[in-house]
Amino acid sequence: MGADQEALDVLIVGAGAAGLWCAEVAARGGRDVVVLEKVSRTGTKVLASGGTRCNLTTTLGPSEAARLFGTRGERFLRSGFRNLPPAEVRRRFEGWGVPTEEAPLEKVFPASGNAKDVRDALEAAARGAGARIHLDSGAQSIEREGALWVVRSADGEVRRAAALVLAVGGKSYPKTGTTGDGYAWLRDLKLELVPPVPALVPLTSGEAWVHELTGIAWQGGEARVEDPAGRVLERRQRPLMFTHRGVSGPGAMDLSHHVARGASEGAGFQLRVDFFPGLDREDLRAQLVASAGLPGAPRLQRALGSLTTGPMPRRLFDAVATSAQLQGDIAVNGLDRRSRHALVEAMKGLPVPVDGTVGWDHAEVTAGGLALREVNPRSMAVNQCPGLFVVGELLDLNGPIGGLSFQAAFATAQLAGEALSAAGRA
Ligand SMILES: Cc1cc2nc3c(=O)[nH]c(=O)nc-3n(C[C@H](O)[C@H](O)[C@H](O)COP(=O)(O)OP(=O)(O)OC[C@H]3O[C@@H](n4cnc5c(N)ncnc54)[C@H](O)[C@@H]3O)c2cc1C
Repeated sequence: MGADQEALDVLIVGAGAAGLWCAEVAARGGRDVVVLEKVSRTGTKVLASGGTRCNLTTTLGPSEAARLFGTRGERFLRSGFRNLPPAEVRRRFEGWGVPTEEAPLEKVFPASGNAKDVRDALEAAARGAGARIHLDSGAQSIEREGALWVVRSADGEVRRAAALVLAVGGKSYPKTGTTGDGYAWLRDLKLELVPPVPALVPLTSGEAWVHELTGIAWQGGEARVEDPAGRVLERRQRPLMFTHRGVSGPGAMDLSHHVARGASEGAGFQLRVDFFPGLDREDLRAQLVASAGLPGAPRLQRALGSLTTGPMPRRLFDAVATSAQLQGDIAVNGLDRRSRHALVEAMKGLPVPVDGTVGWDHAEVTAGGLALREVNPRSMAVNQCPGLFVVGELLDLNGPIGGLSFQAAFATAQLAGEALSAAGRA
């Protein structure tokens, strides 16, 4: 479209999870929708998601799911998740021919186990509703011109639109096309931006003893992240895995945004691992005392193993024992009161120093983005910019692993699509 051509009705930038969903809703609601996508296919991140199985939402109810986004996130997402609950996301996909199934840890996948089915359904639904999608047409700049938004893109076109939806995602996994293009535009519009940091990403540690635990996984623990003053910022009960660089697994990745934010501000954070979250300190002490009273009192590693479903791996036990300043795998009845106390403390909060994350290339999402106070949580309209909407990961929202990121992308896109449909009817 040249400069003298008629303005578009709705222009959506980004054909990912949020952009496609919003396109479908707005087009079905009667708006004339054009979508610009930077790369040569839609939904690249959808295709890569969930190990190419796409954990597309959660089995949690809307309030529980919103709560996982922290206080501000919960307040912001409450109406969106009520408007499009996870169960409705599943129904929508089922209606598009993609039945879903539940998996452990509150996950929902397409029954086919194939992320491509999710991406294809989103694209077909958007196109079927009438949206026109232009691939290899990355937006390069956006600006306001009177009542219109002007978007210049890589296909050489200059498009004007009455309503503009930014759905360009964050800056994690840049090889998928999401290179953080939206942040500069938001800054140019003088909107408040919470500095983006990588999230849902493995953590690094400079401690050799942590690297020596490479390959050890712990299923039933709880990790908590502490700031340099020892304040607990968040806890998460999910599997952990030690790696040659630090700690990974959902338990560590879910907390990674705090560590990334701390590292970006030069603060050293610490994970503490509670290996027995189901037992409080008193229970543990009592169990150790009881084991010590058994005939032929077992050694510590065996005694600790009997408190969980399986034995504690030797290297992990050694790390716990070292932290408690014990002389290796002694018999339980060899523990005096002080060393029993130290052991209980190490089991309920092994300190694991972490100094950062493995970075953007491996981060599933971006934490930070457009400050939520800039956006109307019922419509995703940007308060100071008439006709501008922001949806999906470009917003300062981040939840844990488990289909929550897609749920947030779909719910915010749904609200914007509905607001656009209503404005079209007005
Ligand atoms: C490896 C991996 C696995 C994941 N697994 C899961 C999972 O199982 N469950 C879950 O809930 N979440 C998962 N996520 C996170 C999830 O993919 C994102 O949170 C979600 O895709 C965000 O949706 P979005 O539409 O906001 O952004 P995206 O889906 O990233 O879409 C943004 C789109 O905008 C396009 N774009 C960027 N810049 C421009 C531009 N200048 N002009 C035009 N288009 C542009 C991009 O190419 C992209 O198509 C995973 C992420 C990764 C990287």
